[in-house]
Amino acid sequence: MKIVRKIITTKEEEEVVDVLCNKCGKTCRNPGAYEQSPYGLIEQTYSGGYGSTPLDDCTNYTFSICESCLKDFFDSFIIPVEISEY
Ligand SMILES: [Zn+2]
Repeated sequence: MKIVRKIITTKEEEEVVDVLCNKCGKTCRNPGAYEQSPYGLIEQTYSGGYGSTPLDDCTNYTFSICESCLKDFFDSFIIPVEISEY
């Protein structure tokens, strides 16, 4: 049988305060938006496949891209992205 007592402890946790765009280095948060959660591709991971070139094969690439850089990226496509409402 365990004999227990109640104690108060504090626990240190990490809180994400901002996410920076890997391309431009600016925040992924939209300062004009009511909600301050980040916009864009946030902490996405792409895995280079086996034998992949020019990326290293079997390697994970994790990055965040803000919406502004994402728009510039889309605009650079020869074949436009498909756009639809959700
Ligand atoms: Zn950016």
